[in-house]
Amino acid sequence: MNIPKTSFPRIVIVGGGFAGISIAKGLKNKEVQVVLLDKHNYHTFQPLLYQVSTGGLEPDSIAYPIRKVLKDYNNFFFRLANVEEIRTEENTIVTNIGALEYDYLVIATGSETNYYGNREIEINSMAMKTIPQSLNLRSLILENFEQALLTDQYHERDALMNFVIVGAGPTGVELAGALAEIKKGILPKDYPDLDTRRVQIHLIQSGDRILKEMSEKASQKAEDFLDGLGVQIWKNTRVTGYDGKTVTTDTDVDFETATLVWAAGVKGVEIKGLNAKDLLVGGSRIPVDEFNKVKGHTNIFAVGDVACMQTEDTPKGHPMMAQPAMQQGKNLGENLVRLLENKPLEPFVYRDKGSMATIGRNKAVVDMKNIRFQGVFAWFVWMFVHLFFLIGFRNRMVVFVNWVYNYVRFDREARLIIRPFNRNYSAFKD
Ligand SMILES: Cc1cc2nc3c(=O)[nH]c(=O)nc-3n(C[C@H](O)[C@H](O)[C@H](O)COP(=O)(O)OP(=O)(O)OC[C@H]3O[C@@H](n4cnc5c(N)ncnc54)[C@H](O)[C@@H]3O)c2cc1C
Repeated sequence: MNIPKTSFPRIVIVGGGFAGISIAKGLKNKEVQVVLLDKHNYHTFQPLLYQVSTGGLEPDSIAYPIRKVLKDYNNFFFRLANVEEIRTEENTIVTNIGALEYDYLVIATGSETNYYGNREIEINSMAMKTIPQSLNLRSLILENFEQALLTDQYHERDALMNFVIVGAGPTGVELAGALAEIKKGILPKDYPDLDTRRVQIHLIQSGDRILKEMSEKASQKAEDFLDGLGVQIWKNTRVTGYDGKTVTTDTDVDFETATLVWAAGVKGVEIKGLNAKDLLVGGSRIPVDEFNKVKGHTNIFAVGDVACMQTEDTPKGHPMMAQPAMQQGKNLGENLVRLLENKPLEPFVYRDKGSMATIGRNKAVVDMKNIRFQGVFAWFVWMFVHLFFLIGFRNRMVVFVNWVYNYVRFDREARLIIRPFNRNYSAFKD
């Protein structure tokens, strides 16, 4: 990898997401050599991926070059690399561009879509965890309408205009809301020769309420908002299969659709090499102690979505969200400095700042520690918080200007098929 050996201890961080970047900030200009590895050369602001999928934002405005984050950091190296294996006995990681020794290793690889072993759904559905996946979904949505114009078969047209989203967490709810806004404000103008009133958006949830991690009030209000936008919500319904044409469930309801978006779960990104029996605490997460140290290892740490810190308050680990990832990253960055200075480490304490979700224009739900609110004010708070946490001044400005423009003009101009998604439509033909 062409990284010089120095007298400083080498800390290798795998993953430049929320957690990885927070650790890097804590190690800035300290007496260590830091090597950050990521398979992308940019940091992704995942909470706004759904806006890329629905043409509200360009992908560049929610991505930020990792090299730019690190530009004034001494002793920092970035390599574009996919980490494939950890050899713990040799203190070495193996990547697609070579192997590298470490003194300390931090795994901050985040999470990936969890299909719970259902290969058929994995192959045929759309995920929304990365920018390329969001662009695929954007293309597919638009291609479906172009295709719907070309067919004279009703059932095929309806299937092309049916959108089924599985999983009513924030991602599913926000995507459903955005699609409903498009149905109302954009499709009738873009496709005057198509009966876009027939567009259907189905949101399927295995549990008995949507946004189940939020308060009951937020769930109910979000459901009312979605209802008002015409989204059909199916609770207590578990999707069992999707062959690219029909979504089957464990009830007597099936759905014909060309688009199934799977937002029903995530699991930690696994890297070969850590003792498998140590892994796989609920959803392939790596068990760590209160200092984010991987159980059974002295110089390997895990943070963010991939880490599972089970405490009395968090028996299933912390929520797989940006705040725990950033806070753990900050704490670990400071702890690594303490470790090297032979000072006692500080255990991680999570400060829950609340959660929120938006459901289309002027509508959001916000749960904070002592206050809960919904509606227009919540929507402004949602926008402010997301702008605040975006990395980069340019990105904040671009997103802000886009939002103002979209709001005033009732528009989403990034509805472009730049990179076609090759869907096989033949299944819908007689
Ligand atoms: C659509 C969507 C919406 C979301 N909305 C919200 C929200 O509203 N609020 C909220 O708090 N959270 C939200 N989240 C969750 C939040 O984004 C994650 O919890 C957060 O990104 C976790 O941070 P992390 O640093 O652990 O992982 P990530 O941010 O995912 O970063 C992991 C990094 O590791 C890299 N990587 C992975 N494997 C390898 C490898 N083998 N080799 C090299 N590099 C690798 C990846 O490229 C990535 O850059 C959302 C997530 C998604 C997908």
